Amino acid sequence: MNVSPPILRFLGAAGTVTGSKFLLTAGGRRVLVDCGLFQGLKQLRLMNWNPLPVDVHGIDAVALTHAHLDHSGYIPALVRDGFRGKVISTHGTHSLCRILLPDSGHLQEEEADYANAKGYSKHSPALPLYTEKDAWNSLDRFSPADFDTRVDLGPLSVQFVHAGHILGASLVSIELDSPRRRRILFTGDLGRPTHPILRAPAPPPAADVIVIESTYGDRIHDDAASLLRFEHAISKTLARGGVVIIPSFAVDRTEVILHHLARLRESGRVPSTPTFVDSPMALAALKLYEESIASGSPEIRADIAHAKGFFNSQDLTEVKTVQESIRLNSMSGPMIIISASGMASGGRVLHHLKRRLPDRRNTVILVGFQAAGTRGRSLLDGAPMVKMLGDYVPVAAEIVDVSGFSSHADQREILNWLKLATVRPQIVYIVHGEPPASEALRARITHELGWNAVVPRNLEQVRIS
Ligand SMILES: [Zn+2]
Repeated sequence: MNVSPPILRFLGAAGTVTGSKFLLTAGGRRVLVDCGLFQGLKQLRLMNWNPLPVDVHGIDAVALTHAHLDHSGYIPALVRDGFRGKVISTHGTHSLCRILLPDSGHLQEEEADYANAKGYSKHSPALPLYTEKDAWNSLDRFSPADFDTRVDLGPLSVQFVHAGHILGASLVSIELDSPRRRRILFTGDLGRPTHPILRAPAPPPAADVIVIESTYGDRIHDDAASLLRFEHAISKTLARGGVVIIPSFAVDRTEVILHHLARLRESGRVPSTPTFVDSPMALAALKLYEESIASGSPEIRADIAHAKGFFNSQDLTEVKTVQESIRLNSMSGPMIIISASGMASGGRVLHHLKRRLPDRRNTVILVGFQAAGTRGRSLLDGAPMVKMLGDYVPVAAEIVDVSGFSSHADQREILNWLKLATVRPQIVYIVHGEPPASEALRARITHELGWNAVVPRNLEQVRIS
């Protein structure tokens, strides 16, 4: 019997918001909780190329909190490099990974091709981090599980609990029975009680150690003000014949935006306007949300379960092909274009921004977290010019921040959620935040709850006694 105490090692999302990877070694097993890509600043993205500081063959399983790429996007590389265990996730996370991971591989290949064509790579030839084929291969390793059911991994067991962040998102609770009973809870990304589509996060399962996210650890969302800003930005722009561009995360943000638009139109607060969702990925995810609502999935809020036409498709045009997307460039306003990626770090939204940013009639609405180093953050910070697709583009359009549409709990919501814990944890590790956000949350947990809380360093390892 293995009697050494469990060890937790932070292999990403420590001191930053992306690259979530937490290695738990316990009872002779190694479980990697989340397997995400580093995103944002170039120095972070380059970290994706560093080999993992552990032997990939020695990892027994991956437990995935949710499908966002900063939590799942390194799985294809892990499998290509020799990981042969199971990737355990909820069914919803598996379905979304089937959409997101192949697309991520495709994008890596496109970027490598582009770098080769422009000759700017330091490798010759430039290589993708992984390919679309690697991504499809990695999907074979998935073994989806139900919520609230323990998955047995020998000396350990894993349970997924509703986190309310995006469809399929879960808290991951890991239990070890011997030599001592130990329970470790990973929040992944924690949702919000006010999410208009998803049920509020379940209360925290009893845990000795909690690893919690802190994306908005130093902020309080103002939902009412956000919605009002959203409404004003849209009605003002449409009234002056402008185009509203909403860079949107393909999963969940698109649904939340469409929901708010539909409700504002129903109440006559904004006029009916042609609305384009220009992202095949977002459209595929939208279908999953529609199915979940129609079937009354337990992840969906009770008041909208089984609702028909929830996203009000009357004004909505689905833009699937590249040709259709390019055609939007020649159309004039008023209209609304929702397109990925959410931080304008890539994707089709770039050519819309390039076309629409120089015109002061237009508006860009930023609806989610904008990581340092992304174009979204530059726009938010008031940059007069932004470089995209090889050119500097002047920013004359209005830029509006609606971060209250975020699907991450804010500081108050995180603290209120922690207060629901029935057991006082020995320690809370604060991850997945830029340093000021993590530190602010650490201080609140220490002062308000009186709990031990620490912001770990990247690659640090700690013993769970
Ligand atoms: Zn997420």
